[in-house]
Amino acid sequence: MICVSNLSAYYDTAKGRSMALKGLNLEVPKGGICALIGPSGCGKSTLLRILAGIASNYEGEVSIEGAPVNPKSLSIGFIPQNYGLLPWKTVRDNIRLSWKVKHPETPVPDGEEKMLARLGIGEEFLARFPRELSGGQQQRASLARAFLLQPDVLLMDEPFSALDAITREEMQEVFFELWRAQAVTAVIVTHDIEEALYLGQTIVVLSSSPGRVSMVMENPHFARREASGDFAAQKARLRGWLTGKGAEA
Ligand code: ADP
Ligand code: MG
Repeated sequence: MICVSNLSAYYDTAKGRSMALKGLNLEVPKGGICALIGPSGCGKSTLLRILAGIASNYEGEVSIEGAPVNPKSLSIGFIPQNYGLLPWKTVRDNIRLSWKVKHPETPVPDGEEKMLARLGIGEEFLARFPRELSGGQQQRASLARAFLLQPDVLLMDEPFSALDAITREEMQEVFFELWRAQAVTAVIVTHDIEEALYLGQTIVVLSSSPGRVSMVMENPHFARREASGDFAAQKARLRGWLTGKGAEA
């Protein structure tokens, strides 16, 4: 389980210290999926970097499985907002990178080719470099790298944002397959309310900067594609919280 308690994050700039998160509390149960939404600049990416163990500009408690975040002892799949592909490595090497760093002695899992096919990453892309791919193709390569790792924790920062609607739905299904097969604990940042309603067992809304949790919702529409029942009402409610009119919504 992911447990964040009284988290404040800051950036020290030439103009002094600015707060990106202030007093944020969050819990994601083991094997759960949390969808995180909030206005631009409220600190979503900052929070994911902290959870990934690659940022230390914070105060407060952050633990995963009862221990301070440590990417060395845990296997953490992280899909950064800018995809995080290394420009000097081929797409194939980028996709295998996280596995090789984590398991240097073990060959990549057998499911690699199947997973690449599911993500629509054809043979012709693998020898290319990231700059030779479209944004959507780079995003899928970044998904492939995180999925191949078979992580304990999957942190995804707007992972489907560069994809067209049809491809996005396919990639969401691949994510669900992985989640069901491996019971990975996942945090997904999205600015798309409908995506949050589809992917999040729990939806957490952050306030505007500096971010803290303004609303937590157990999501009755989780993993249900068809808009049914009170879907429109839930959507309106989330939109209300996102725009700061939560109390009235
Ligand atoms: P979000 O992902 O929700 O859009 P970010 O986590 O990227 O927000 O940023 C949160 C706040 O921190 C913003 O006000 C942003 O300008 C600021 N910020 C992000 N990265 C840096 C940085 N490297 N230096 C200074 N300020 C930063
Ligand atoms: Mg961001």
